[in-house]
Amino acid sequence: MSDPLFEKIALVGIGLIGSSLARVIRREGLARHIAISTRSAPTLARAEELGLGDSYSTDAKAAVKDADLVIVSVPVGSSEAVAVDIASALKPGAILTDVGSTKASVIAQMAPHVPAGVHFIPGHPLAGTEKSGPDAGFAELFENRWCIFTPLPDTDPVALEKLSEFWRRCGSNIDTMDPEHHDMTLAIVSHLPHIIAYNIVGTADDLESVTKSEVIKYSASGFRDFTRLAASDPTMWRDVCLHNKDAILEMLARFSEDLASLQRAIRWGDGDKLFEMFTRTRAIRRSIIDAGQEVDVPNFGREAIEHPAKG
Ligand code: NAP
Repeated sequence: MSDPLFEKIALVGIGLIGSSLARVIRREGLARHIAISTRSAPTLARAEELGLGDSYSTDAKAAVKDADLVIVSVPVGSSEAVAVDIASALKPGAILTDVGSTKASVIAQMAPHVPAGVHFIPGHPLAGTEKSGPDAGFAELFENRWCIFTPLPDTDPVALEKLSEFWRRCGSNIDTMDPEHHDMTLAIVSHLPHIIAYNIVGTADDLESVTKSEVIKYSASGFRDFTRLAASDPTMWRDVCLHNKDAILEMLARFSEDLASLQRAIRWGDGDKLFEMFTRTRAIRRSIIDAGQEVDVPNFGREAIEHPAKG
């Protein structure tokens, strides 16, 4: 192997994100040794069957020993327990990062336990699907997606640059911002869309005037597109809601106001208002396609972007 970025990378958590990392690390030769750890024996056995790493353990402490880079990919509500568990085994000079979807809470949970001399750099790759577990990952997941770091005030710039290089080699673009800004931004671009999807799918499920079979049968007229988000992992999204509470509640309040205004326009037959709004929102989708974050093909291009050759 020519010039790996790290001698040993430890992956704590080997679900969608952890296993995608394992695959891209292998493909790009980013580490000489990939150590894999997950809490349950069945998930670990599956990771081993898939050949995702070089060593496997349900003991996270054993996995992170001597690792130069440790990436924690577990539900955000488990961050503190993992930090407490691995802290004493972290190598001085190692980089410790995470991929959690909320940042202020993860920092509050993990930072107090990180030993001096270990570089803790919180991160969040804005890449995912509604699938979970080690089978769901693929090496291309992070390609042309953003990875956001929320460095602490005393973050070592050399360590930050090394971690940035790691993510660039995984295919990502890098941004940095403060954790509160991250949490507010993600509340609108990710958390609210999921909550709205969970809500609308739940409402349809509760409706008695429309039979469930009709909801399924006629779903291609719009409903189906919400069900993809609403099929996302319940543990992950429970934790996101509990750990980004303030930002989500603020965005929900804004959303409810705007929804009330839309409701009023429909009630009073204000077609101009509806047309103006629907025209404005259509342009947003165009900007997303132009920014390379979506492809302009039917069904959101899912066949093309979510089922690439597995890495
Ligand atoms: P996942 O596929 O469900 O995998 C979760 C992993 O965490 C598994 O290895 C699981 O272990 C482990 N885990 C679950 N509960 C745990 C606990 N209480 N303590 C220790 N380990 C635990 O999840 P994922 O989609 O990879 O998400 C991982 C992280 O990435 C989350 O923080 C999420 O917010 C973030 N993220 C997700 C996405 C996305 O679209 N999915 C995108 C960006 C960031 P076992 O299977 O052995 O129980």
